[in-house]
Amino acid sequence: MQQSISSKPIRSVGIVGAGIMGSAIAAVHLDHGLRVVLVDQDEEALARARQSIDAAPSASLLLTTKREALADCELVLESIVENVSAKQRLYAELEPLLSPDAILASNTSTIPIGRLGAKLARPGRFCGLHFCHPVRHRPLVEVVRGTRTDEQTIGSVLAHVGAIKKMPIVVEDGPGFVINRLLFAYLSEAMSLVLGGVDLMAVERAMLDFGASFGPFEMLDEIGLDTSFQAGLVLSEIFGDRLAGTPLLVQMVKAAQLGRKSGAGFFIYPEKTVNPIAARLIAQWKGTNECGSPSPIAVRLMSAMGREARRIIEEGKVRDPQDIELGVVHGLGFPAVQGGLFPWIDACPKS
Ligand code: NAD
Repeated sequence: MQQSISSKPIRSVGIVGAGIMGSAIAAVHLDHGLRVVLVDQDEEALARARQSIDAAPSASLLLTTKREALADCELVLESIVENVSAKQRLYAELEPLLSPDAILASNTSTIPIGRLGAKLARPGRFCGLHFCHPVRHRPLVEVVRGTRTDEQTIGSVLAHVGAIKKMPIVVEDGPGFVINRLLFAYLSEAMSLVLGGVDLMAVERAMLDFGASFGPFEMLDEIGLDTSFQAGLVLSEIFGDRLAGTPLLVQMVKAAQLGRKSGAGFFIYPEKTVNPIAARLIAQWKGTNECGSPSPIAVRLMSAMGREARRIIEEGKVRDPQDIELGVVHGLGFPAVQGGLFPWIDACPKS
């Protein structure tokens, strides 16, 4: 087995879904001299992808609506909408086209790999390969081991992540894996504060002052509110009552305010002023949440993340608690607070 793990490096990669993530992941692969076939069902998405990867060397890039072009790829990464049946339908059509040795991976943020791969003929060659947004600036990649993923697949994928100069952590399967459990505990607390009456801009400023690269509402806009809503649905399986803010996301999606990709979410882009539609919806839902503890905003939000981190460790989802610290800094873009997340939270004055 060890022999095959160190087998030849992956040279050609297929990516299905040329949206925010798929096109950014394609660019990283091109930067490292790999051949990329980027497939989308939508010609316009392919045209946008071509523009966004313009800066990367594109001689080895094929953009196409035809899945058959993936036949020679050694690794195919699915990065389409966050929806179980859409992904499973795609795999049913994709798997027979690929070589028996090819690895199929999903960039899903939240859906368990075991569930996604339930109907595959070769579940051993299937795993999660979860890149973090914005891909160029976040080195961390979660490699998710499904219960039926074989070790050779994990070994090849780890070597591949290293080859494109990213930082892999291997995590066990389950809704939201590790990164999105941490992230949504934090984002959920931010939405809960705002529904409890705290000013949205006060929450944004508090987290920027803390050193986060985006405030939580800009982060939701960056991820996409449709994707965030879908992710929230999967996570509610484990979060239950701990996941707040979903009514706000539902209303925002219904109002077609999808975040940066649609030009408006909690903010309007490129001006980055608060979107009046979001302000109206927040006013409408205000008071549906108790604001609770009077601790400073950053302490509230980071403590919510810290509580989730402790659960993740207790459940054995990471091999080493240090992987949580790597995830917070290199996957989510928080500052490397002195001593790490847990010592920082423990040192905060409790209310
Ligand atoms: P997106 O909406 O920007 O793009 C999805 C693309 O998939 C669209 O271009 C769509 O046309 C295409 N598509 C849909 N069904 C298809 C099919 N059957 N065949 C071919 N193309 C199809 O979405 P995104 O934000 O890039 O997210 C993609 C995946 O990555 C999701 O699973 C999401 O959870 C995950 N993810 C997203 C983020 C984020 O911050 N947005 C971060 C990490 C992972």
